[in-house]
Amino acid sequence: MKGSSRIGTVSGIGIFVHWTFWLMLAALFGYYMYLGATVGAALMGILLVLAVFGCVVLHELGHSFAARRYGIPTLDITMYPIGGIARLQRIPREPKQELVIALAGPAVNLAIAAVLAVLGGVGQGADSLATVLAGDGGLVEMLMYVNLVLVGFNMLPAFPMDGGRVFRALLATRTDYRRATHIASFVGILMAIGMVVYGIATFNLALPFVAVFVVFAGRQEVAHVMETT
Ligand SMILES: [Zn+2]
Repeated sequence: MKGSSRIGTVSGIGIFVHWTFWLMLAALFGYYMYLGATVGAALMGILLVLAVFGCVVLHELGHSFAARRYGIPTLDITMYPIGGIARLQRIPREPKQELVIALAGPAVNLAIAAVLAVLGGVGQGADSLATVLAGDGGLVEMLMYVNLVLVGFNMLPAFPMDGGRVFRALLATRTDYRRATHIASFVGILMAIGMVVYGIATFNLALPFVAVFVVFAGRQEVAHVMETT
């Protein structure tokens, strides 16, 4: 990927970070300082972002290893401020394969959340959900909830996000592949509009960027399916 630098290789798959990710970290640090946080508190914030980053890399590797089971190699994994992308050599046309590959990513975050729940002592007098959401629950619990949010967010039926792929795969078992892709991409565009509206209403500026990705990546994939089926 242009503008990305390799930070490592896992099982032959290059892990790259786009320059905008480093910019986001620097901006976040500056924002903490602007808010009057101590350097220590700002570094804790950065540490949480890096921990989430690690969970997203594992999520993408989940897709990659599932794809490998079907003989599909991953070209690379690139991390952006709004998330990661595992570039598979091809998207399988077999609905069951697409379903398994799409679910493998969120399944990793679910597993991480389960491990962190045990580590964080959930159910053993741990902090309440409200405490954690208020940011007072400590790093382990925050990370656990972020992983659960990642599962929920990725499972939105916003093709070509994971939930949208699951949706397309399920449709493709009932109707032909082109029609399934058209329906999934239409629902994806509706979801993208919802993300922009919700993002602006809640000042969550990452959402409109995700929406732009959903629309452009979705259109690209629809065009590819129409050309090749
Ligand atoms: Zn995913």
